[in-house]
Formats: sequence, structure tokens, C-alpha cells
Amino acid sequence: MINFKNVLTASASALLLATIISTAAITTAYAEEETGPAFAPPITKISGPEIGPGANRSSKLVVVLDPGHGKVDGHYSGCNFEYNGTKYYEDEINMKISTYTKKYLEENTDYAVYLTKDSVEKTVPLEQRAAFAASVHADLFVSQHVDSAPGNGVTKNAYGVSSMAPKTGRFNNELALQSQEAANTILGQLSSIGLHNRGLILRDSQNGTMFPDGSLADYYAIPRYSQMYGIRGFIIEHGFINHTSDLTLYLSTEESYKALGEADAKGIIEYLKKAGKSTFTTTTEAAQVPPVEGAPASVPAGPAA
Ligand SMILES: [Zn+2]
Repeated sequence: MINFKNVLTASASALLLATIISTAAITTAYAEEETGPAFAPPITKISGPEIGPGANRSSKLVVVLDPGHGKVDGHYSGCNFEYNGTKYYEDEINMKISTYTKKYLEENTDYAVYLTKDSVEKTVPLEQRAAFAASVHADLFVSQHVDSAPGNGVTKNAYGVSSMAPKTGRFNNELALQSQEAANTILGQLSSIGLHNRGLILRDSQNGTMFPDGSLADYYAIPRYSQMYGIRGFIIEHGFINHTSDLTLYLSTEESYKALGEADAKGIIEYLKKAGKSTFTTTTEAAQVPPVEGAPASVPAGPAA
């Protein structure tokens, strides 16, 4: 039913998965809403082919969706929660939401739409997801997640949708502004189907990680790498898996996954209609990082079928 042509090839994904498994021992928890790995040193000027939306631009709008988490070493790496005898896994829900978003965008726009992976059975390192988005010149990069409040039990007071977006007032300020506006537009669509809007969650690096201009970097990996690669990018959290009303109303049925995915798609369309293609070019001060294995060459140039 879903066409997964526009994802990393199986061989490339296998390589990525092998990379993760080999490093799993030193990464006990794959908390990707959190820091992720620091920048790949060293920070150097890019003299080779430019990456990012500013280079080799296609006339089509390009959207990269990132279904958060996925299995690491055979185990789901996102949050989960058991309710009335059923266990719900964030990894699976994220993939469903992303799939519905992609489907809606392909049926209602001529955008080129890519996923960062094609299965919950694997994950992709955080930085490589942003590198992939940059390599296809994404006009918007949205990492789709489900939230969880700490502790056990059903009595949670945290509920609703939010976005981890880049902070403004420092490195690539204009880009951060655009990312925040796009995130708020999607949150508005999610709010319109009844979810409480918690707004943007902006957080500074807790370990002193700096952007290339010496300003403090963002704590969350996806917005941080998006800033580094010069792409509009952020995380959307689709409610709390361990909040009873969020779970039962929005996170436990196929219809609700579809509604969430389509709300994201509508927000993406609403924003891109107004903002158009990203004119942001990758800064020459961007971190030099290894390309995603095989991604630029293996991803079809055309839009999704
Ligand atoms: Zn998550």
C-alpha cells in the first residue's frame, strides 16, 4: 500500500544498522529527543560539493519525514506503555504517523517526499538523518515522535503536542525562526483535531556544545543538526503515550494515527505554501561530516510515485 521507493536502499540501511549495533554498547539509551552525539569534529570549511537546500535545487518542494527511533540490537528504542493489556510502542506509532503523512502529501501535492528509513526494525543515527535531509535539499525536515512522562502508571499530568525546535538569537538565526514558524504551524493543525498545544520546547546544550560561530548549540539533536546543515528541521511530539486521554483518543487506533499523520501533512502544506522553498544555503562554516552511506546516490531524483 505504501511506496517506499524514496528511502535509503536496503544495503545502505544495513550498513547504517551495522554501525549502530557496533556502537550500541556505549549508547545505553537511544534517547534521540535528547542530545544525540556531539558534532563530528573537526569543524572545517566545506570546499567540495555543497549540500543543503541552496545547492542543486529541484523545482519541487522537498519534505523529509523522520519516523523517530526504531529497533536497536533487536529492541525498540522509543518509549512504550502498557494499557488494558496492550503494549504500545512509540517506534511503531511514529512509523505509522510518518507513513500517513507521506501518503497524504503524495496524494495532495507534487512534493518530493522522503522517509529516513522504511521499517521500525532499524534506526538511523541522528546526524545521518539530517545529513540525508540536506543531501536531498529538504525544504522541511520533520522528525515525528510520541512523548512520555517520567515515572510509572497512568496518572500523568503531561499531555498534548509539542515541538523541539532550534532556538533563535544565535547561529543561523533566520533559519531557526523559519523552523519555529513551521513547527508552530504543524502544532496548530494538531491542536485543531483536539490535542492540547504545549508549544515549542527550546533547550540549550547541557554540556557546552557550541555552534561553529561560538554560540551555544541546541540540546536536542534534530534541531541542532538541522541548524548545522542549513535546513528547516525540528521534532514534533504527538501526545503522551502514558497519558490516558492522549493514548486512548490519539495514540491507540489506526484512525487516530491517520489523523495525526494527516494533521502533520496539512501543517507542512500550510507552511510551505506560505514560505516556499528554502533559500537558506548551507553555511561554509558548517561541520564537515561523513555523508550518509549511499544516500545521495541511492535516492531517486524524482518525486515519490
Ligand atoms: Zn521519541
